[in-house]
Amino acid sequence: MKILVINSGSSSLKYQLFNMETESVLAKGLIQRIGISGSFLEYENNEGEEVLIEKDIATHKVGIELLLETLLSSEHGVLKDIDEVEAIGHRIVHGGEAFAESTVIDESVIKELEEVADLAPLHNPPNIMGIKVCKELMPTKPQVGVFDTAFHQTMPEKAYIYALPYEYYKKYGVRRYGFHGTSHGYVAQRAAKMLEKDLSELKIVTCHLGNGASLAAVKNGEVVDTSMGLTPLEGLVMGTRCGDIDPAIIPFIMEKEDLSAAEIDNILNKKSGLLGISGVSSDSRDVENAAESGNHQAEVALEIFNYRVKKYIGAYTAAMGGVDAIVFTAGIGENAIETRAGILNGLEYLGVELDEEANDMRGKEKVISKSDSKVKALVIPTNEELVIARDTKDLVN
Ligand code: ADP
Repeated sequence: MKILVINSGSSSLKYQLFNMETESVLAKGLIQRIGISGSFLEYENNEGEEVLIEKDIATHKVGIELLLETLLSSEHGVLKDIDEVEAIGHRIVHGGEAFAESTVIDESVIKELEEVADLAPLHNPPNIMGIKVCKELMPTKPQVGVFDTAFHQTMPEKAYIYALPYEYYKKYGVRRYGFHGTSHGYVAQRAAKMLEKDLSELKIVTCHLGNGASLAAVKNGEVVDTSMGLTPLEGLVMGTRCGDIDPAIIPFIMEKEDLSAAEIDNILNKKSGLLGISGVSSDSRDVENAAESGNHQAEVALEIFNYRVKKYIGAYTAAMGGVDAIVFTAGIGENAIETRAGILNGLEYLGVELDEEANDMRGKEKVISKSDSKVKALVIPTNEELVIARDTKDLVN
């Protein structure tokens, strides 16, 4: 069974074609700058052949048509007939409260997604566009939506209601939803397997640390709290997002700098975080390099990043009444050795003993705590696309 996984953004679209018999990737690619000059498609098949197609990709439809052409190409394609694709799985950022699990997409689902689109105005409309185009180009193929918010829907009210007038929750759905749910769910499950324990008996803090970053407290297999909120802005320090701040700072800066709501939103989302503090870059590697050469703001940026994660681990341990495992994933979590050490050092009182030697590696599934550490620390590379492909397979079967 072959399944196409699509992550459709506003000007970019990522895709992977899976062979589900072996759960292997047959081909993958990325389309960039849709609707902007200089658009292109990068493609790679399972034999490592890489193709770059630079041409005008004015719309998502043109992009997906091109993607299908490359999959069928006699030179570097991996399909003889598009009918070999049995189903399409879509990553959808915001499912609101309507979607607590992955769902087969029909007209009523599209309608509900359109209703929650104002909760994620940058993400959901292009996600919906991807669905509509696939429906037009491959009308007989079942499509499945897999939501970033779904895994977090188990949170209790005390974790998701903000201390604002309750009517905003009722009228506009203002509450904590949380994101990266597919990743948190995947690594929590893998952690249980690696520790040879049942997920339903474990208290895990999962740390998804990439450009966007969030933590989840996963107790007995269910999320009880997570650091992102109504939008992916809340919580940790991220590449360009501020995470938690005193909300009064917002009107204060708006007044001082004479900014509109859109302008302050742009600053909080695009000009803050590691980039804002360091003044160097949103990429943690650049910030690490700058810190190594003595840049004070870069040093502080990394310290604040680690300190925020550490505080959340403490908070989530309290929320769960203990912790059995701390899991690191995504670009920084999988690769940044010093960041992992910086977060875990000082948590010995909780029962975490980092094994510096085991931690000295990048991008591999590994236990990085000492063998007698009461709390286990693990690195688990995430694989959101595989989860989307698996859910799609399960639902269409
Ligand atoms: P996104 O949220 O965009 O998917 P990623 O999960 O790819 O982000 O994470 C991007 C972050 O991971 C960047 O800050 C980058 O510096 C960091 N990163 C990626 N590879 C490495 C590495 N080898 N060492 C340290 N940091 C890395």
